[in-house]
Amino acid sequence: GTRLEDEILRIKQILKAAQIEYEMKDTPMLAGVSLLTENVLSMILKEAVNNVVKHSGATLCSLTIKQTETEVIMEVQDNGTSRPEQLNFRQGHGLQGMKERLEFVNGTLEISLREGTKLIARIPHIVK
Ligand code: ATP
Ligand code: MG
Repeated sequence: GTRLEDEILRIKQILKAAQIEYEMKDTPMLAGVSLLTENVLSMILKEAVNNVVKHSGATLCSLTIKQTETEVIMEVQDNGTSRPEQLNFRQGHGLQGMKERLEFVNGTLEISLREGTKLIARIPHIVK
């Protein structure tokens, strides 16, 4: 699996190559987050950014990673054009894959379409 920090470095390069500005809204000082959770977040981030590059036509992509006492929340927001009728969860594709991986760790995926696309992934903590 990939550590989240490494994936953040990679998506920065991908966005730069696509001439999409990158913005980090919160520093991911993840404390006590399991490797599995990090792997899932890395995979979601990778696919979300692939989609931003492929589909959004955005000029800006911002990433927010927050940690509360009960969950880790990652948001990937772009300022592109999103058409609700195009967002489909077909088997074997990116969005469906994200949803399945999140469900595996009891997480949830939410997509909000307002001034672009915002993907919100939440994963509860397993307190050890
Ligand atoms: P794959 O991920 O398998 O290569 P895909 O990217 O088309 O194919 P999904 O990742 O499941 O499939 O996305 C489904 C559809 O949702 C996309 O084809 C696109 O129309 C739309 N979509 C997803 N993310 C965005 C985005 N950030 N902006 C605009 N449209 C999006
Ligand atoms: Mg995709």
